Amino acid sequence: MTAVIAIDGPSASGKGTVAARVAAALGMDYLDSGALYRLTALAAQQQNLAWDDEAAVAGVAAALDVVFADSQILLKGVDVSAAIRQEIIGMGASQVAKHPQVRTALLARQQAFAGERGLVADGRDMGSVVFPDAALKIFLTATAEERARRRALQLNIDLASEQYQAIVNDIKQRDFNDINRSVAPLQQLPDAYLLDTTELSIENAVKKVLEWYQQ
Ligand code: C5P
Repeated sequence: MTAVIAIDGPSASGKGTVAARVAAALGMDYLDSGALYRLTALAAQQQNLAWDDEAAVAGVAAALDVVFADSQILLKGVDVSAAIRQEIIGMGASQVAKHPQVRTALLARQQAFAGERGLVADGRDMGSVVFPDAALKIFLTATAEERARRRALQLNIDLASEQYQAIVNDIKQRDFNDINRSVAPLQQLPDAYLLDTTELSIENAVKKVLEWYQQ
C-alpha cells in the first residue's frame, strides 16, 4: 500500500509549508486539501451560487475541472493559485466545508492523490477520514496569536495595526467554525503525534516529522 503521511491542524499553523517540505525531502507527492475547498468556494462564486446552498455546491465540488501543475492550480484551464488565497475565499472555503455532501464529493478526489511515490496530505481530516490508515499522523498547531503573527509577517502588516487585529479575529473565527463541526480536532486522532510549533522553526518542525516517519 502507498505510504501516506497525514498532517492535520488549524488554519495558518504552518502545516502547508511543513507538509510540502516533508514531501520534497522524501520524494513524495503533496496534497493541499484546503485548496480543494477553496477551489469549490471560488467555482461556486463564479457560478453565482450561494455558499450555503449545499446541494448546488456539492455539485460544483463533484464537477471541479482542476489541474495541479507544479506551483500552478488551474481551474478550467485558468491559473487561480492567487485567487484562491484571498481571505474572502478562505472564509467561503470554511463555509462550504461545513456541508457533508461537499465533503463526500471531495473524498475520492483526495484519496486519488495517493500514488506510487507516497503522499503527504495536509488538511483538517486527513488522518481521521480521508486516510485513516496513514503510516504517520501528525496534528500540527500553534497558538492563535502566533499564527496571526506569522500571517501578518507574510503580508507585511504591522503588529500594532488594526489590520493585525483583524487577522487575529479571522483566525479565531475560523478556528471556531472548524471546531464546531465534526472534522478533526485532536481528540479524533488518538494515534497522532502532537507538534506544537509556537516556538519551533519550520526546519525543526520538518526534522521532527522526518524523525517520526523514520522511526
Ligand atoms: O487550509 P486552508 O486554510 O487552505 O483551508 C481552507 C478551509 O477549508 C479551512 O478553513 C477549513 O474550513 C476547510 N478545510 C476542511 N478540511 C480540509 C481542508 C480544509 O474543512 N481537509
